[in-house]
Amino acid sequence: MKIYVLTAFPEIIKGCLDISMYKKAQERAGVEYKIWDLRDFANNKHRQIDDTPYGGGTGMVLKPEPFFLSFDKIKEENAGEKIRVIYPSPQGKAFNHDMAVEFSKERVLVFFCGHYKGVDERVIEALVTDEVSIGDYVLTGGELPALVIIDALIRHIPGVLHSYDSAKTDSFSDNLLEGPVYTKPAEYRGLKVPEVLLSGNHALVKEWRQKQRLERTKERRKDLYEKALQNNLSGGCHG
Ligand code: SAM
Repeated sequence: MKIYVLTAFPEIIKGCLDISMYKKAQERAGVEYKIWDLRDFANNKHRQIDDTPYGGGTGMVLKPEPFFLSFDKIKEENAGEKIRVIYPSPQGKAFNHDMAVEFSKERVLVFFCGHYKGVDERVIEALVTDEVSIGDYVLTGGELPALVIIDALIRHIPGVLHSYDSAKTDSFSDNLLEGPVYTKPAEYRGLKVPEVLLSGNHALVKEWRQKQRLERTKERRKDLYEKALQNNLSGGCHG
């Protein structure tokens, strides 16, 4: 997979890519990151990529040219490939697990990072395939949302996680939240790990974990719990 990020602040993205899962995705699954500076695609000698909004008002808007010109180059580099263009935006569809899994199956992903008042609407109309929000709040730029979306999707590329089985029990797979997890020591400051986890009885542990997942989801996310029941994924246990 190739992941292009078009941004006015490449340092924000580059600073993360040689760390943790971003790095492992390169090493284990050949994910290639291409972080391009929008200013390199400005069509003016001052490398200006923003301008005042038509119709007046405060704030600057990112100009269309850097996006169209960089996209021309991406198309050239990926002739014949399907290209998915994601614009992180507070006005987009709420990002979730299913979208992460779907994006992880693509071969070429492009992120257009907005800034200031946002991106000229013609870019969104003509080039963007997915406008995606990471929550109902406004951030300064699209760099952190792009990193969030990349982190969530690379986990689903085969080979990136050491054990994909672990991701299968993470929250949101099967619409359930993960239950509590513990590690050594078995007792710390009088706080004990549940007995069943020390029992060595795998069947009992499995049953306990599923019950915890159901209870936690029912308590914290009624919406997901009901979905899980509808999908008949409760394993016959209705918490
Ligand atoms: N004027 C825009 C509005 O009110 O919808 C907000 C622009 S915001 C200051 C600048 C950029 O940050 C956006 O173009 C987008 O790329 C990114 N951004 C901000 N909040 C976001 C969110 N919740 N999810 C995804 N991207 C976001």
